Amino acid sequence: MEKKESINNANTLQSLDVVKPIYNITPFTLLDYPDRAACILWFAGCNMRCVYCYNPDIVFGKGKISFDETLNFLNKRKGLLDGVVLSGGECTSHKRIQELLIKVKELGFLVKVDTNGSHPEKLKNFIETKLIDYIALDFKAMQNKYFEITKSNLFNDFLKSLKYLSEINFPFEVRTTVHSDLHSNKDIEQMINILEEVNYKGTYYLQYYRNDSETIGNIKNSETNYFNLNELKPNINVQFRNYI
Ligand code: SF4
Repeated sequence: MEKKESINNANTLQSLDVVKPIYNITPFTLLDYPDRAACILWFAGCNMRCVYCYNPDIVFGKGKISFDETLNFLNKRKGLLDGVVLSGGECTSHKRIQELLIKVKELGFLVKVDTNGSHPEKLKNFIETKLIDYIALDFKAMQNKYFEITKSNLFNDFLKSLKYLSEINFPFEVRTTVHSDLHSNKDIEQMINILEEVNYKGTYYLQYYRNDSETIGNIKNSETNYFNLNELKPNINVQFRNYI
């Protein structure tokens, strides 16, 4: 018989200790949660295999830190950090992420989720139950290039997430890592069009692929500055920024 989980216990998630979902913890960052001091929980595993992914160790590796160890760490950071960033890998793919989120909120932290948007129902549930405060949503590519870039068929799930977040006006940002071999000006123009169609109100961040990194697809270096944003004439706010 399956062991009953004790998610109501305020300080422990002992039944979750059988797995170690977290690959690593970055104890402090001022860059990953807008205007907040935060830590980052890197979840092992992902349901995509983006060719430009810089984190093959995290995507293919096993976690090393349990939820209990994570909560012990967070307990000691109460009053020192504003927020917790759940990143990865794909944190929303983890079966028991909701239980961790409940505990993190009980500790009083703001929560940001970095996601590829492949679990729209989970995002909806987390938002409705007030478990997350901010989302960074990856817009990998248009549908015709989605498989080539992510090795997944999850475009429609991503789109559902994008539409839902836009409809409810949740605080979120959309971002794309761009590579000259993968994204043309035309592709980015079409992606901007989609964001305009769903009435996205935030800033669309374009991040140049970071050359000379080990990636899942072993792709070659991208040309830098190959975009001309002025040519695209977007109706939404579009900005380049360094990769996060
Ligand atoms: S870049 Fe792609 S493969 Fe890497 S963690 Fe993000 S979604 Fe997963």
